[in-house]
Amino acid sequence: MGVKKSRFGRTAEGKEVLIYTLVNSKGMGIEVSNYGATLISVTTPDKNGRFDDVVLGYDDVTDYIENEGYFGATIGRNGNRIGKGVVMINGTSYQLDQNEKENNLHSGFSGFDKVVWNSEVSEDGKTVSFTHHSPNMDQGIPGSFDVMVSYTLTQEDEVKIHYQGRADQDTIANLTNHSYFNLAGHGSGDVLNHSVWLNADAFTVVDSESIPTGELRSVKGTPMDFTSPKKIGEEIGADYEQLLLTGGYDHNYVLNSQDGEMIKCAEVTEEGSGRVMEVYTDCVGVQFYTGNFVGRRFGKDGVIYDKRSGFCLETQFYPDHIHHEHFPTAVLKVGELYDTTTIYKFGIQK
Ligand code: BGC
Repeated sequence: MGVKKSRFGRTAEGKEVLIYTLVNSKGMGIEVSNYGATLISVTTPDKNGRFDDVVLGYDDVTDYIENEGYFGATIGRNGNRIGKGVVMINGTSYQLDQNEKENNLHSGFSGFDKVVWNSEVSEDGKTVSFTHHSPNMDQGIPGSFDVMVSYTLTQEDEVKIHYQGRADQDTIANLTNHSYFNLAGHGSGDVLNHSVWLNADAFTVVDSESIPTGELRSVKGTPMDFTSPKKIGEEIGADYEQLLLTGGYDHNYVLNSQDGEMIKCAEVTEEGSGRVMEVYTDCVGVQFYTGNFVGRRFGKDGVIYDKRSGFCLETQFYPDHIHHEHFPTAVLKVGELYDTTTIYKFGIQK
């Protein structure tokens, strides 16, 4: 164990961007950066003991500053979409950036993915914590918000992401991590052969702009059903309106536990490498996104990424939560502690 700190570059404003490398005693490693509190890499063994990096990313800090697809980034204050970018808190309406059509996606133009966070390494060398003070009306949202996201690499090959925050007025707190995974290795083509299980009997139905209509629909009898493991490619091309609207899977799944308990929310297996990734969370939802909009581009090590080169499992409140009374609320009351954990655990198929 131990943490190595290295220079990644500088922002246009001259702020220093760092990379922290954590390795556990089994050789599994992760890299995280203070730019966007981003997960840069996860290096894990396959069934033959060969180590590969299984998250998509870039070699150059300027690509992370651009980061069109939010590769690896921490998203906040609000992950996912808010219809028309309008939120009403305590009777007052606030206009957020409309950065995707008329809607707000991933907190607009100045989200937490664009922030150079403060960083601290724990004494035991297992955790890097990033902190940030988001001032009142940052991103158009009321309340100053002090937020922390930490990455811990455990001996059990888990990447544990812990978020905490407190605000001085009622605000919105809905952070997520936007890593794209490819368990065959980040440069190994598309993820259609990955097998996915989701602990969710329902999903939030969306309109043509990916804004929830309010309907929670059972996955039963639809191509959205991952309650038994199924290859991503098996039904992604089905003639099913919800999939046609989003060009593949790009939906929030309603997890089967809604009471803040830590549950296993997903398991993904890639047979060729034998790698398995389990996801645990205390969140109520997870956005399963199959990289439908990833355009052809260079990634780490000079490899080329393209549509569906990775998939995301973004744990979160449901998209557009603020406009649907029957969705769990992401409003964080003044003085309350926002506290949520998601774990990505890596292993080998039995
Ligand atoms: C959204 C996608 C979007 C992607 C990158 C995901 O969280 O669900 O629709 O294209 O982020 O912006």
